Amino acid sequence: AKETGKARAVVYSVREEGLPQHDISLEAAMFSAVREGEFLLYYQPIVDARTRLIEGFETLMRWKHPTLGMVPPVRFIPIAETNGLINLLGAWALKAACMQLRQFEEAAGRDLYISVNISPRQFRNDKFLEVLDQALALADLPGAKLVLEITEGTLMVDPQHAETILTRMAERGARIAIDDFGTGYSSLAYLKRFPISVLKVDRAFVKDLPGAHKEAAICSAVLDMARHLDLVVVAEGVETDEQLGWLQQRDCRYVQGYLTGKPMPAHVALTALQDNHYT
Ligand code: C2E
Ligand code: CA
Ligand code: CA
Ligand code: CA
Repeated sequence: AKETGKARAVVYSVREEGLPQHDISLEAAMFSAVREGEFLLYYQPIVDARTRLIEGFETLMRWKHPTLGMVPPVRFIPIAETNGLINLLGAWALKAACMQLRQFEEAAGRDLYISVNISPRQFRNDKFLEVLDQALALADLPGAKLVLEITEGTLMVDPQHAETILTRMAERGARIAIDDFGTGYSSLAYLKRFPISVLKVDRAFVKDLPGAHKEAAICSAVLDMARHLDLVVVAEGVETDEQLGWLQQRDCRYVQGYLTGKPMPAHVALTALQDNHYT
């Protein structure tokens, strides 16, 4: 019995550390998932911190696997980034999101915007600007209603190339948001160099507000800096009234988090829009 116990322990530890093997099957499943249409888009409200009025939505990808259930993006986006599927998935998401915005605006009876995550590989892809133009044309959407979320890392790989692409994006009126702001390894010099409009302050700095002194100092500093640079701030991961109150007091323009709306399918987002009034 001792022997078996030992052998089992070994098998378990191999299994636990055997993530790569598991990912290979996940990767294989991704290709059929594309064919079977198992990828979906969820939408999370981005709201005015003062009025709680929905101003836009961030598009978040979901994979509904027939037996595994919902596979979180942290599991499948890195794989798609490695094997290149992200270009296909990202192009689909961009087009679908632009078209979805039209329906959201119709339901709300006012202007909204849509925010879409662009992965590093997508950003570097030769066809990216073409895909962007196609998405805007297909939905007949002015570029100004689109926000493209990129990370500091995306900018740092090849700043020269990034500058070219960002300038082209800005020419179309699309706004650029720095996602997970403050978590990457980069200097602030890029805020001067590139046409950036939005800073999305990472949840890491928001989650322990208002009690945590260092996080509070960082958030205050980012908000001050953004004001002087004419940048809009979105605080990510806002979960409590206390966090919201703290951010409101410091004139943070937008918040996004479970407090004001979780990521939801489009039909639920439509209902949320209908129930969303000035407070
Ligand atoms: P992200 O772009 O930073 O997206 C925000 C993440 O925070 C989302 O996780 C969202 O569900 C979660 N979140 C929002 N509010 C709260 C909150 O109040 N509390 C907590 N604990 N979490 C909150 P999700 O949907 O699992 O996405 C994870 C990451 O996967 C995203 O992080 C993004 O980097 C990536 N991702 C998702 N969809 C796409 C996509 O279409 N394309 C690309 N390239 N990446 C995507
Ligand atoms: Ca994002
Ligand atoms: Ca983020
Ligand atoms: Ca994040």
